[in-house]
Amino acid sequence: MTRIRGAVLGVGVLAAMSAGWAASGASAPPSASAALPERVVQRAAELQRRVAAGSEAFGIVASLTTEVGPRLAGSDGDRRAVAWAVAKLRALGFDNVRAEPVNVPRWLRGEASAAILAPWPQRLVVVALGGSVGTPDEGLRGEVVEAANVAVLEELPDEAVRGRIVFLSERMSRGIDGSGYGKTVPNRGRGAIAAARKGALAVVIRSIGTGSHRLAHTGALRYEEGVARIPAAALSNPDADLLAAQVASGQPVQLELRLTCRADGEAESANVIGEITGRELPDEVVVLGAHLDSWDLGTGAEDDGAGVAVAIEAARQIAALPERPRRTLRVVLFANEEFGLSGARAYAAARAAELPHHLAALESDLGSGRIHRFRARVAATDEAWVPALHRLLEPLGIPFDPAPASGGADIGQLARAGVPVFDLSHDASRYFDVHHSANDTLDKVDRAGLDHAVAAYATLASALADLPAPLGRTVVETPAAR
Ligand SMILES: [Zn+2]
Repeated sequence: MTRIRGAVLGVGVLAAMSAGWAASGASAPPSASAALPERVVQRAAELQRRVAAGSEAFGIVASLTTEVGPRLAGSDGDRRAVAWAVAKLRALGFDNVRAEPVNVPRWLRGEASAAILAPWPQRLVVVALGGSVGTPDEGLRGEVVEAANVAVLEELPDEAVRGRIVFLSERMSRGIDGSGYGKTVPNRGRGAIAAARKGALAVVIRSIGTGSHRLAHTGALRYEEGVARIPAAALSNPDADLLAAQVASGQPVQLELRLTCRADGEAESANVIGEITGRELPDEVVVLGAHLDSWDLGTGAEDDGAGVAVAIEAARQIAALPERPRRTLRVVLFANEEFGLSGARAYAAARAAELPHHLAALESDLGSGRIHRFRARVAATDEAWVPALHRLLEPLGIPFDPAPASGGADIGQLARAGVPVFDLSHDASRYFDVHHSANDTLDKVDRAGLDHAVAAYATLASALADLPAPLGRTVVETPAAR
């Protein structure tokens, strides 16, 4: 339901997960295993000992959320986040620290309010979806028409929708792999287009989130050329229940919605990069990615302060070993993942010639939960490395999943160019309680889970940087248009 290009914006790792890429032959467990050099195995064990003995990861998230906080692309917070990241990477001793400029779209949230006017008047907790146009200053009013999701909406006769406010009410399910997100996020991404095609005035959705708190979850929507741009907002889960209960009464439900959000041109942001230069093959690169931007409602602790900390701390732990890795480790803190993948696109576009020397890429963008599975997407000729790499992760209790790795939203741009990617997937059972909401704050970060992730990412990144041979390019099948 989502693709990287023309995708529902800002949907994180799950966008790529649902993209339906297939790797050549990576779905069956490889029969043979290659042997890693003893030095690589010993370094993995040493890294795991060191991370267990002490990790700076939580301190990094605390620093980012305390000293910067919300950092929506193009905002003052975003600019301060870039400065924070440059200073942090320099202070931690990274090489070649730089901010590579990236143009990002700017959007101003303004204010949002919603109320049921009839049959039983009540105020509702609501937030604008990212990128939404505003309503008229005085707000708009209309009768509610409920549909579970976009597919159901598309089956309604136009006259049932025209002049009304569409309510998409489907609930996201909870799960360790966060797959409920991919199933419901089209309501956010495509709801405004589907509703406008049928002449709706506006759309409100049940938040794409699993929390029962009375806070709404934002996230980007899409508009389509040639289709009217209508205002779109998300209700908190309990307010979606309330609206659904009034609709279920069978009486006409009148809703009022007022949004003052608007687009505001472009601004400059940056991908922030720091490296641990390889001692033998410095031009060959292993990317450790996360995104620096966040939505504006919380402080971006879980999304993606946690990933920023995992990437930085994993690389720092490797740098602290007595010997440098053979290849270069490159931490890339991507600009504007949430509102258009600007940084990921700029990074890949600027490096078409270098991508053959990107040995592999990893990304952390699913909160601070423990790592619950390892997946790979490598060329068929390199599959024998996968069980060898997995054996290094076994002391951390991480099972191998034979499904091909998706990579994630930001490194998805590299995966499309054939760069091998690996997934170390965080347990997302609780992540979507706070994701994109005002509740995404430091207290939600799971310190033990975060350090488990640091150990896993450090183990894998170190082994990849020291692999005896380079990895071939993967065959990427373009998903059929969806
Ligand atoms: Zn994210």
